[in-house]
Amino acid sequence: MLKLDEMAKKLQHMLTPNRFRHSINTMETCIRLAEKYGADVDKAAVAGLIHDCAKDLDKDAVLPICEKYGIIVDEISRSQPKLLHGEIGAHMARELFGVDDPQILAAVADHTLGRPGMDDISSIVFIADYIEPGRDFEGVEEIRKAAEESLEKAIVAGVNSTIRHVLKKGQPLHPRSVLTRNWALQKLKEREQQEQEH
Ligand code: FE
Ligand code: FE
Repeated sequence: MLKLDEMAKKLQHMLTPNRFRHSINTMETCIRLAEKYGADVDKAAVAGLIHDCAKDLDKDAVLPICEKYGIIVDEISRSQPKLLHGEIGAHMARELFGVDDPQILAAVADHTLGRPGMDDISSIVFIADYIEPGRDFEGVEEIRKAAEESLEKAIVAGVNSTIRHVLKKGQPLHPRSVLTRNWALQKLKEREQQEQEH
């Protein structure tokens, strides 16, 4: 695996300046959240830095690249190829940055839609992507506040804002957003019950 600063240098050539800044910000937020929640700081930093490495690929290149990597494209992703940049990014992370850690690769692959059962590294990247300091959208403060309380709470708040956005735009909702939300809600409920018992 390349060193963090070598990855950053390489990444800078793959992304627009704004996206590169977002990637650095996401990495820094990942580090902060990993420290706060006792996760592996180095893995969170790498995953945060490279999570969007496939986001600025040419639109027409996306589906052929999926074919090359053997990525299965569902109907909704076919109509919204942007949704595929996580999964493509995980393959590129392996090929271009030499990443072979399964936790980092999963965090990159799942950062757009989340995934039920995702681990702390994936959860941290998922959340940092919403709340990094450069983000400014309606409802971001609510997600920032939730991230100070628990990862589950922040995942629910993040998916809620994505679902609201998708509904508002009249786009089809990817079922995995719903599954991620239900999973995080259930975890949140269990945590609150545990806290009441103690
Ligand atoms: Fe992304
Ligand atoms: Fe991102």
